[in-house]
Order: sequence, then structure tokens, then C-alpha cells
Amino acid sequence: MRKPQEQIEVAIIGSGPAGYYTAEALAKNLNFKVDIIEKLPTPYGLIRGGVAPDHQSIKEVCRRYEKTSLLDNVRFLGGIEVGNTVSLQEIRELYHAVVLAVGAPIDRELGIPGQNKKGVIGSAAFVGWYNSHPKFSNLQPSLDVKSIAIIGNGNVAVDVARVLAKTPAEMIESDLAPYAAETIHKSPVIDIWIVGRRGPLEAKFTPKEIGELGRLTNAIALVNDKQIPKLTIAERKVLEPAVRKNLELLESFTPHLPKSDRKNLHLEFYAAPVEILGKDRVEGIRFERTKLVNNACIGTGEYFEVSCQIVFPCIGYKSQPMDGIPFDEKKGHFINSEGVIDENLYVTGWARRGPTGTIGTNRSDGQEVADKIYKLTKASGRAGAAGLDALLKKRGVVPITFSDWKKIEAAEQKAAVSPCPRVKFYHMEDFFRAVQK
Ligand code: NAP
Repeated sequence: MRKPQEQIEVAIIGSGPAGYYTAEALAKNLNFKVDIIEKLPTPYGLIRGGVAPDHQSIKEVCRRYEKTSLLDNVRFLGGIEVGNTVSLQEIRELYHAVVLAVGAPIDRELGIPGQNKKGVIGSAAFVGWYNSHPKFSNLQPSLDVKSIAIIGNGNVAVDVARVLAKTPAEMIESDLAPYAAETIHKSPVIDIWIVGRRGPLEAKFTPKEIGELGRLTNAIALVNDKQIPKLTIAERKVLEPAVRKNLELLESFTPHLPKSDRKNLHLEFYAAPVEILGKDRVEGIRFERTKLVNNACIGTGEYFEVSCQIVFPCIGYKSQPMDGIPFDEKKGHFINSEGVIDENLYVTGWARRGPTGTIGTNRSDGQEVADKIYKLTKASGRAGAAGLDALLKKRGVVPITFSDWKKIEAAEQKAAVSPCPRVKFYHMEDFFRAVQK
């Protein structure tokens, strides 16, 4: 039996919402000491690199994560890549418990002919690019095109369409990367296709997001009335409120007509991509018309083509497998039983359950894993934080601390002109220069 005063040292790998909510849940108990280990020099994962740059209010949740970072029993260590700077095995030997909160950073593949043609850009890369993610900042997508197809009917698809369609004035309060703003705002794109393989009632986007498409200055949302299911009042009543609201919003778009002086956002349903067309570069995409049979998407054998020069598959993500850790290739996450992978190894967030839910879903996940760690971990001589510090010192690695991050944050805010909240850095030299000030 563990004595109350014995501290349990936990390493959480990844500093997105999943990592922070787990840290918060653990740190409430002063028997725990938590190190949040992050490969980037900056914390907050998808809040910084995934949430749309014009959705600043969602990013406010970072204030809560900051409070966790400032607790005496929590440390943030940025710039430490597990699997490179240190191995997962080393971390597991040092800490009583290790939590993988590494998210799902890899694009799922369309799995159709032509998917590797130039101009097919997964949403992880494109969203990372416009959000100044260091890994994707040099993507240089050529947006000098007239027509773009976005595949998928989730909120990422809607985010991508909106960021492409908004005017500079509509993005003025955002933290869109300046290089991305330049490329996006000079793009001559006129047609943006948002294509779902199922119908309006099955779409995964949410009313807030789809509603925004109806309020854009220079873009018009278009829906073909023939694709709107015709429901009776009684059938509408039993729909989930969000689905009913989506339907009402999509119906409100049906009277709209395409305009040559605006960006036209064509919401196309019942269309599954079957081939990306073109020689080396994308020239179009072929779809098969679908119908729903018992909610399954069935091809009808009818095909049509959309001319486009870029395809953004926004069809979900998967985690990056790690050496020796059981991984479900089909589901794209680590195999686990209620967050437990193995002795002293846990998983939370998208790496545990796949890329679903809201930011808040990670809170209950984090609490559950914290409870499991509390119940299952036996204190036994582990070197913990002191051991990691010694190992890093031996390797000549100096981690970015939370107070270093606050210097980076201040420098990014200073570089911005109000109402832009910050100009995010993406070059390592800029991060290190800010830290040394
Ligand atoms: P998502 O919600 O799972 O949507 C993925 C979409 O891709 C679905 O419409 C899916 O269709 C479609 N799809 C999957 N495979 C396909 C294929 N092979 N061909 C054609 N279509 C395919 O994923 P997401 O948009 O990446 O979002 C991930 C999570 O982040 C979600 O929980 C989302 O709500 C959240 N998020 C929230 C916000 C926000 O709150 N503002 C913003 C961005 C993301 P089926 O339904 O037919 O499978």
C-alpha cells in the first residue's frame, strides 16, 4: 500500500487539451508531480495549431491550461521529442506512469486513384500551414486557382472553406499566419466545393459552423434543394436539435444563386470521391452519386466530375504509431482498455479514442485516466523529473520552460497590430531569440 506522502511522478506526452486536462486532474492531488513533455517549443497542441484562426474565443481555454502550468507540482518541458530526444522506454523507466496525449496528427488517406497527385493537400497540412505550425509553414500551396474541392462534411471541412472565403477585413481579428493571408487573399478562387458522401442529416458539421457560411461578406453558400430531405413536421420534431438546426440552415441557402463576383461555396451531398483526375497535377475529381440504405452509403453507379485544381481531403486524422505500442491501424489510435495500454502506460484524448468530440470531451477522458493512475500506480523507486533533467543535461538539451513560453507569447503579441491578437512564430530561431530576451 502506498504511503500518502510518497509522490507519484507522471509524464504526460503532449500538451494539447488532452494532456492539459489530464495534468489538471492529476495535479489536484498533491501526491502527484506532473511533467508535460512537448516536442514543439509551444504548448496547447491543436488549440494553437488546429483551431481556426478566426475562432479566437475557443482559444480562451488556454487560460485554464496556463493555471495548471503554474501549479507547483506541474512542469512544462517544450522542445523535447519523445522518440527522438529521449525514447519512450527511457521515459517509462523514469516515471511511475506515462500518459500518451499525442493526438492524431496524420491525415487519413482517401484511398482512391490519383490521391498522391500534386494539389491534393490533407487538412492536417493545410490547417497547420495557415496556423503557422513549424512542420507545415513551408507547405507553399499554390492557391492561384479558380476551383477547389474540399472532401468531407465535418467541422474541419467548414473551417477550411471559411478561411478560404473570408475577406482580409473578416480575418482582421484572427491570428492567421501572415504568409497564408497573403496567399489566400490574392487567390482568384471562385468555386469552393464542400462535398459530403452522405446527406444533410448525416453531416458531422455543427450549426454554429455551418451558420457562419451564410454570413460571409464576399461568399455565398449554395445548396441544391433537390438534395434536401423533405421531412414532415413530425419527422423534424424527432431530429436531434443540432441536426434540425443544420437542416434549417442548409434550407435557408437553397434560394441562393451562384454569383460571378463572389466566392461560391457549393455544398454538395451524396457524392463519394472515386478518382482524382489529371496528369501530375489535380485537374478534377470524379464522384459517384450515393444513396443511403440503413444509414450506409451505397454507390448508385452514376458518376459526375467536378473541375478543380486543388483537393483538400478533410476526412479525419489518425495517430502516429510508436515503436512497440499496440496500434489499431483501422481506427488510427492506440489499442487500450479504458485508457490503459500496459503497465504504467496510459493514453488519453484522440490518441485513445480517435478524432472525435469537442475540446471538453478531453476533460472527462483526462479525469478517467487520472483516476486509473491513482488506483493502479504503486510508488517504487523511480528517478522521475530529476532523472529526466539529468538525462537531458547529459544530452546537452535545454527544455523550453513555461516561463520561456510566456516570453515567446509576449513577443508574438508584441509583433501583432491590434486587433490581431498575435503573430505566431514558426522558425526555431525566433522562438529561441524570444526566450533569450
Ligand atoms: P469528422 O467530424 O469526423 O468529419 C469527417 C468527414 O469526412 C465526415 O463527413 C466523413 O463522412 C468524411 N469522410 C471520411 N472518410 C471519407 C472518405 N474516404 N471519403 C469521403 N468522405 C469521407 O472529422 P473532422 O472534420 O476532421 O473533425 C475532427 C473533430 O474535430 C470532430 O470532432 C470535429 O467536430 C472537431 N472540430 C471541431 C471544430 C469546432 O468546434 N469549430 C472545428 C474543427 C474540428 P462520414 O460521416 O460519411 O464518415
